[in-house]
Amino acid sequence: MKTVVWTIEERCKQCYTCIRECPAKAIKVEKGQAKVIEERCIGCGHCVRVCTQNAKAVLNSVQTTLHFLTLDKPVVALLAPSFPSAYPELEAEKLVGALRECGFKLVVEVAFGADLINQEIVKLAKNSTQHQWPGTTRPIIASSCPAVVNYIEKYVPELIDNLMPVVSPMVAIGRAVKRIYGNDLRLVFIGPCIAKKMEMQNSQIEDSVDEVLTFKELEQLFKDLHVQPEKAMPSWFDAPHPFLGRIYPVSGGLIRSSGLPYDLMDNEIIMTEGKHRVLKLLECIQNGEIKANVVDLLFCEGCINGPFIDQTTNYFTRKQKIIEYAETRRERTNHSEWAQYLERCKSVKLTRTYHRQPIQSPRITEAGIREILSQINKYSQADELNCGACGYHTCREYARAFHQGLAEKEMCLPFLIENLKKTKSELQNSLRELADTQEMLVQHEKLASVGQLAAGVAHEVNNPLGSIMLYAHLILKQLGEQDEHSKDLKFILDEAKRCQTIVSGLLNFSRQGQLKLGKHRFQNIVQKLVDMIKNQSLFSNIKITLNIADDLDSVEIDGDQIYQVLLNLAVNAAEAMPEGGKLTIGAEQDAKKEKLFIRISDTGVGIPSENLNKLFTPFFTTKQIGKGTGLGLAIVYGIVKMHRGNVVVKSQVGKGTTFTIAIPLQSHVVANEILLQQDHA
Ligand code: ADP
Ligand code: MG
Repeated sequence: MKTVVWTIEERCKQCYTCIRECPAKAIKVEKGQAKVIEERCIGCGHCVRVCTQNAKAVLNSVQTTLHFLTLDKPVVALLAPSFPSAYPELEAEKLVGALRECGFKLVVEVAFGADLINQEIVKLAKNSTQHQWPGTTRPIIASSCPAVVNYIEKYVPELIDNLMPVVSPMVAIGRAVKRIYGNDLRLVFIGPCIAKKMEMQNSQIEDSVDEVLTFKELEQLFKDLHVQPEKAMPSWFDAPHPFLGRIYPVSGGLIRSSGLPYDLMDNEIIMTEGKHRVLKLLECIQNGEIKANVVDLLFCEGCINGPFIDQTTNYFTRKQKIIEYAETRRERTNHSEWAQYLERCKSVKLTRTYHRQPIQSPRITEAGIREILSQINKYSQADELNCGACGYHTCREYARAFHQGLAEKEMCLPFLIENLKKTKSELQNSLRELADTQEMLVQHEKLASVGQLAAGVAHEVNNPLGSIMLYAHLILKQLGEQDEHSKDLKFILDEAKRCQTIVSGLLNFSRQGQLKLGKHRFQNIVQKLVDMIKNQSLFSNIKITLNIADDLDSVEIDGDQIYQVLLNLAVNAAEAMPEGGKLTIGAEQDAKKEKLFIRISDTGVGIPSENLNKLFTPFFTTKQIGKGTGLGLAIVYGIVKMHRGNVVVKSQVGKGTTFTIAIPLQSHVVANEILLQQDHA
């Protein structure tokens, strides 16, 4: 079987309108592309009509028809009765003339096929008792609309026995034309319907027509053959000429033209059109809720609303066109000729059977539905918005489609929006982290270059400083304590010592110092510090609290240098609390026992955010000249770095500051996971 409708993938823009429109749920979304599933498709053409991107392609029969027209065998045009609504501005005579110009030897109205099957319907009705037609279950479903037949065969095969065992007008006219003009013909049906292209491929009826063209393809044929219908030589249809069959494309046309007794008051006959009502009615029949004898269903709102009908006019104008045409031609009907043709076609086979082609939909449990919905963040009924954006009317319908492999998570718009928001905030977080890291790197680099400079200066100064101290000592020794210059010499020595301290601080900052590593209990170092500071006047108004975890392992450090770190931080903290406050020294280790975290917090003045980046730079101080050297934190930084650790500071102006140091418990481990953070709060 040739595929009749398919998707041109690159054109699909994921609007899911086709899913919304497809009555057979024959559209599968794969990687965002809505694809028609051939086995499920009933050829109704709704998806083709609604796709604004022209992403749905339909089997094109223009080339085959053109080819037929070049061969010797006469080609017959079978014009569907909806043609007056497809060409509202064109007289029938001109359309027939144009078809003849194309090379069609005969142009016949399919409506005669409708007259023929009407005979069959009436005959079946008469033969039956209480409208119970042979082999057919009540209510009888009229079978002219191939989309309805396809739907029943695939989706409600239980109703196959309800389908009227009668061929469509297209098949009837095809066989009738062959009966009248002989078999050596090629027959091309021209109409508004895509499903006819599927019907024609049914092996039961392949003797009836050779090709199906839509009205749109007919336009293309005219163009290719340079035929202008409005300028065509008027001509009239070839026999057999129809009678009331011309109203078949209008809903109710079958009932009216067959003469079945329709009375609104007796519920015997139901006529309905449009996919929603048709599906509903089939469901009602399935549930045994319908009392009627005959139902006439048209998937489109009558063929006059078929997928390939000119949509520039409205539905009612189109209906009017059909009735007007049928009415004017009715008056001119040659009844005896009509009856003769009916008689000639008496032996034309008008019955058919149907085949179940059930589409199996795997069953899904309530738990299964819930599981699928939870994947798109719908955990309870309240989360089911039923917004329809995915093309399915309800979230549950979507879940069933998902279960069948027809739908994807990304089709759920609310889910997508939530995800986008999440991604956006993740992106913002990553950007923030990146900015922090970059700032940290810049800071480290700056400190490294300052460190190099400091180390250079320190080395250069160290030697002359050594000479100054040596000679000052010698002179002091020679002169003796009583000499009047000894006081000056002591001053020189004190100042030189001060310089030495600065130099050693700088060397420490630039990590040029030596580490004397050993296993230490951190508690002991802290205790030594507390014993030292508690009696000093700087700490007199300060409450010292220890918050040291009990389970600390020993740590491999240079004990004196870490003591120096704690002392510098404690002194800074005390200096930040001139009016008194609280100093907390905390320590803990991580679960993996890799790092020791040391926290020194105060409740002091805090550090303005603009200073945070400068803290560790040598000689940065906010203290009065003579009071601060600006080396305390530079030394802290250098010592921590020598221990392959890290130091971060968090501070709030007016509230206090916390320095956190991470150092490896074992000296070979690096504790660089902690980034230099700033708290601007
Ligand atoms: P110094 O103490 O000699 O000024 P430091 O390197 O120890 O040099 O500190 C540099 C600067 O960092 C200080 O002048 C002060 O402005 C700021 N600072 C350091 N620790 C604290 C703290 N705990 N609270 C407030 N400011 C601090
Ligand atoms: Mg200091």
